[in-house]
Amino acid sequence: MSNAEASLEHLFRVFTMPEHKDSTLSQIEQHLSDNLSDFLSRHVVAKRTSLEEIEQDFNNAQLPLQPEFVSTHAEHLLEKLVTNSVNTYAPTFIGHMTSALPYFHLSLAKLLVGLNQNLVKIETSKAFTPLERQVLGMMHNLVYEQTDAFYASHLHSAAHSLGAFCSGGTVANVTALWVARNLKLAPKGTFKGVSRDGLAAAYKAYDINNLGLICSKRGHYSLGKAVDLLGIGRANILHASVDSHTLDPKEVLALGKAYKAQGNELLAIVGVAGTTETGHIDPLDELADVAQELGCWFHVDAAWGGATLFSDTYRSLLKGIERADSVTLDAHKQMYVPMGAGMTLFKDPAASAAVRHHAQYILRKGSKDLGSTTLEGSRNGMAMMVYSSLHVLGKSGYQLLIDQSIEKANTFADMIKAHPDFELITEPTLSLLTYRYCPAQVQTFLKSDQCETNLINEHLDNLTKAIQKQQREAGKSFVSRTRLGINTYPDECLTVFRVVIANPLTTVGHLENILNEQVEIAINQPQLTTLLSYLQSEDNAIA
Ligand SMILES: *Cc1c(COP(=O)(O)O)cnc(C)c1O
Repeated sequence: MSNAEASLEHLFRVFTMPEHKDSTLSQIEQHLSDNLSDFLSRHVVAKRTSLEEIEQDFNNAQLPLQPEFVSTHAEHLLEKLVTNSVNTYAPTFIGHMTSALPYFHLSLAKLLVGLNQNLVKIETSKAFTPLERQVLGMMHNLVYEQTDAFYASHLHSAAHSLGAFCSGGTVANVTALWVARNLKLAPKGTFKGVSRDGLAAAYKAYDINNLGLICSKRGHYSLGKAVDLLGIGRANILHASVDSHTLDPKEVLALGKAYKAQGNELLAIVGVAGTTETGHIDPLDELADVAQELGCWFHVDAAWGGATLFSDTYRSLLKGIERADSVTLDAHKQMYVPMGAGMTLFKDPAASAAVRHHAQYILRKGSKDLGSTTLEGSRNGMAMMVYSSLHVLGKSGYQLLIDQSIEKANTFADMIKAHPDFELITEPTLSLLTYRYCPAQVQTFLKSDQCETNLINEHLDNLTKAIQKQQREAGKSFVSRTRLGINTYPDECLTVFRVVIANPLTTVGHLENILNEQVEIAINQPQLTTLLSYLQSEDNAIA
């Protein structure tokens, strides 16, 4: 055996060899499982701040020709990659939907890789397939609350699926609209269905110009990707109720009718349960009525907000979700599962037959291979993480997490409202809110009606942007920012701070510190000086 061959063999056998415990990688592993928080605070230290600098560490496109020792490589990873990654576990990291995970996922992740199951087919996953189907059933039950008999007859039926597991909300939305499209453009006469004959033939067979989708302007950008991919075209996303955060059912109905009257067909209405930017929830129950009246599919994108259903306190906010034809859920958001855990759920267990595919060597007719109705092919056993989380936390554990997040977001909103120099822009519907730094005298000025609000808002936008960047770069805490249109200033967009309360370890004290830090950064900004001197000159002009 050559040296190279021996080394390769070593790489694959090493699990059985105790000596690998001495390598740097094993030390990392030990450190991670002994004390993750200590590992993160020691190693994720942002040695470099600018992305351009970090790019210098990754600017070599040459393939590594010679193998290197795992230990050497592990050191390289620590030095170049881990240091300059983001500590999403920090309780002061409240800007995005990605946050801390319960500790047991670290070991489960190892189990997942250790087993390396492929859920595309039973031959490479065995028990994982019924497990995934059960998880989909549990989540279906959370949304649709069907009878025991319903689940007994559908959970493991080869001809049915209660949903499709996938890598995330984006693929879940694509999957839902894929099924909706194929059902809408089903075989008819000599036309064998869009799945076989394509869109051009479908539009001809159904005598329509276009297929459209209605959502609010807060609809997730993945809907744009979905209609692009499905051949429907981004121009056929109809944004209803554009001066509101949520859809107005009357406007949706009128828009849908007008669209159909022009020789088009309506594919779907998409309601959002927890918009990504502001957390708003569309009036789902009323939208279900509108969809029924228009004869179109009703999809609810509950990627982020869906976990609210675990809470008896707040579940009613999503009333009507149980009438959706399909629902998107992301377990890697408010279910605290590692990334790669999205789901589409179908009200009708027969719906997914519209996208069923068969192949000779797997996914044979009548088989229960999950791959025959999923968009993705090879897929890992992430459903196990959802399964375990459901067992370890239970419904009541999730309820507690959801309730605490929402209550903390409300407390934070109160703190912002009580502070003279901050302005709450959107109230928290769930645990997401937006606000900005706006000194008291500027607020008074904006309300005075004598000013050009757009010029002042532009100054405030610059200030918000500067504060957000500096806070991020200082590395103690993180809020995100976005641009929003709000009713107070109909023709403008405002730059605002966006906060997502997710980490259960975030305390009111952390939130106070974040506001204080923002004030400290703000008062040292040239943008603030510019703004105040602008006000001065306006004041003088008015006087
Ligand atoms: C996060 C999110 C998505 C996209 O999910 P990914 O998991 O990022 O693909 C879609 N819709 C909403 C409302 C979301 O919050």
